[in-house]
Amino acid sequence: MALRLSLAAARRPVVAAPRVAAASTGAVRGHAVAVDPTPASSSSSSLASDAQSGVRHNWKRAEVQAIYDGPLMETIFRAASVHRLHHDASRIQLCTLMNIKTGGCTEDCKYCSQSSSYKTETKASRLVAIEPVLEAARKAKANGSTRFCMGAAWRDLAGKKSGFEKILKMVSEVRAMDMEVCTTLGMLSPDQAKRLKEAGLSAYNHNLDTSREFYPEVITTRSYDDRLSTIDAVRNAGISVCSGGILGLGEKAEDRVGLIWEVSHMPEHPESFPVNTLVPIEGTPLEGNDPVPVQTVLRTIATARIVLPKSIIRLAAGRHTFSETEQAMAFMAGANAIFTGETMLTTPCTGWDADKAMLDRWGLRGMRSFEDKESVEVPGEAKAEAAVSA
Ligand code: SF4
Repeated sequence: MALRLSLAAARRPVVAAPRVAAASTGAVRGHAVAVDPTPASSSSSSLASDAQSGVRHNWKRAEVQAIYDGPLMETIFRAASVHRLHHDASRIQLCTLMNIKTGGCTEDCKYCSQSSSYKTETKASRLVAIEPVLEAARKAKANGSTRFCMGAAWRDLAGKKSGFEKILKMVSEVRAMDMEVCTTLGMLSPDQAKRLKEAGLSAYNHNLDTSREFYPEVITTRSYDDRLSTIDAVRNAGISVCSGGILGLGEKAEDRVGLIWEVSHMPEHPESFPVNTLVPIEGTPLEGNDPVPVQTVLRTIATARIVLPKSIIRLAAGRHTFSETEQAMAFMAGANAIFTGETMLTTPCTGWDADKAMLDRWGLRGMRSFEDKESVEVPGEAKAEAAVSA
């Protein structure tokens, strides 16, 4: 299905410049003074705290659409302003994602090479042993990654008792390295989420992928509400939620807006919102989809940054298809995390050295892990410290 986008900027409503608090200069994550959005009304303490910091849970879909449809450079400017109210905009989180169990998945996600519904080059494999995972995590940490994510191509954990025990061990061992640890293992029950939390899991990835309306065009083996149930279980267990989407599935602009609107109405905004760009895989139903224009990616990131001001926005799969300057525009639009390493699940990924050099060229630095109070050494940071002490 072809991507249908309107780039008729002249017909779009003009978005007002953000109302920036006078004391906002240099604000960092967790010390927000944003006043851009209208505060939401809620009785719960977390919602009240969100309202104080300008985080809204009452966005109207039309409001989100108006932001998305705004003149792109104005939307990026507004997003960059919001970004600086809630985050240290010089910091980009480096994450490394490892596939710990490849292929043979019984879900039918039309974009995925690991689904057993399609004939692709990806072959099914068993869950990897613990030590190679720990070795990969050590290597990721040594290269500046502060979050290590482990992905298994499963619908859920049913009948995988020993595999789950192995994963719990991986989680606790990686956490012991002072790294944030994330997994993506398909659907979870509340009890499984609780056990992952007890093992030390920091975050769980479970993407909504797209809008509720478009979702059945992409996946038929589970529902949007199944997805939301797992996200609820994760949140209720006290694990950070990582949930975002994929661009280029054949969705319309309204579906990208629908996704952002949907997560903005969660009881807590996702700690992390990945923006993936389809990497078409031969043998999947979406193998012939058109590439996603970079403007679509920037528009989505900027809209997400404005609507989800405290979330970390991850420039995820497909990043390697964008030039360095395009990626820098994404950071300006509010993206503040990248996946780096050798591969990203079954798609290519830019390596650590290339990424660190890129960040250095743009005056950006690796984000510190909330687990690791020590500095994560990246070239830009070393230079900044040298300049201060000179
Ligand atoms: S995206 Fe995940 S759940 Fe869907 S087919 Fe691929 S591995 Fe399975």
